[in-house]
Amino acid sequence: MAKITLDNLAHSYLAQPHEEADFALKALNHDWEDGAAYALLGASGCGKSTLLNIISGLLRPSQGRILFDGRDVTDAPTAERNIAQVFQFPVVYDTMTVRDNLAFPLRNRGRDEAYVMERVNEIARMIGMEEMLNRKARGLTADAKQKISLGRGMVRKDVNALLFDEPLTVIDPHMKWELRTQLKKLHHDFGHTMIYVTHDQTEALTFADKVVVMYDGRVVQIGTPEELFARPAHTFVGYFIGSPGMNVIPARVEGNRAYVEGTELPLGQGYGRLEGKVEIGVRPEFVRLSQSGGLPVKVRRVEDVGRHKIVRAEFFGHEINIIAGEDERIAAEATRVTFDPAHVNVYANDWRVNGEAA
Ligand code: ADP
Ligand code: MG
Repeated sequence: MAKITLDNLAHSYLAQPHEEADFALKALNHDWEDGAAYALLGASGCGKSTLLNIISGLLRPSQGRILFDGRDVTDAPTAERNIAQVFQFPVVYDTMTVRDNLAFPLRNRGRDEAYVMERVNEIARMIGMEEMLNRKARGLTADAKQKISLGRGMVRKDVNALLFDEPLTVIDPHMKWELRTQLKKLHHDFGHTMIYVTHDQTEALTFADKVVVMYDGRVVQIGTPEELFARPAHTFVGYFIGSPGMNVIPARVEGNRAYVEGTELPLGQGYGRLEGKVEIGVRPEFVRLSQSGGLPVKVRRVEDVGRHKIVRAEFFGHEINIIAGEDERIAAEATRVTFDPAHVNVYANDWRVNGEAA
């Protein structure tokens, strides 16, 4: 296991990049702590696989260095990095049995056969394939083949890190939950450094100690699920995490007051006078409907999602979402909203501004 350091790392698929937009991965400095479970979360095309492939050595970065426990591995081939990587689609040997597929990484490293069989049986149990060990991989469903790929990724205990690139894409929804639980257990039992790539916030938030959020080639925030919820560092993190995501509202901010369409709102902290594109962000959980006081809204729709209600309302021509209690009656005369000042974040040009005690 190892700490992985990214030192001023960046990547462009172009031979001669000229501007920032030419970089699929913008310059990045980060330490992946030894033994932590990370999720790398972001929309399709934001650079997740690019970053993962640089860490595993499938791709050489056009700028910067990668260090494993302080040793520069930027030019070391994949095999030397001692990493297990599982891809989105199955990579299995069709002519081999399930058993031989699972055993492959261990035999390849010259482990003795008794150990190999013990470990293969353990993994087969984890991925629910004990009954299929004698079957040839050829002819199995994509789902079963992907489980073999996962098993192969998990079979070695002596790897520096385990990298998963959207590994559950072809797995059916029930099995997804089961396999994710097994991955967490694996992490708990062996403490490998794990990086799990996904575009699914639920998957990221349930799997990881720390979530690395990417947007347009850039890491915009690294934090615990709680930090991403309470203090999104970028408006994208606010939108992308949460269901529904954070409401982002254009505002003017002066000191500990925000002004939305001329109405004054108290803020929990002070900000001086902000320039540029200024917005406030408030999660639907911290918006309250009221009958008097606050900003005017028109309720458009109420969705009952079981544990609570999502109220979709219109607010100065924009949609605003409100989470209301399961038993809360949404009165037709509820035509105003208030925000909990302690949970209002302030953004300038999409980045969160740290306030000062007001
Ligand atoms: P993600 O895994 O988050 O979906 P990728 O890392 O695959 O994103 O891609 C990031 C960006 O780099 C995208 O704009 C994609 O089109 C581009 N890209 C990915 N692979 C290549 C490649 N081999 N050659 C050129 N551009 C690529
Ligand atoms: Mg990808």
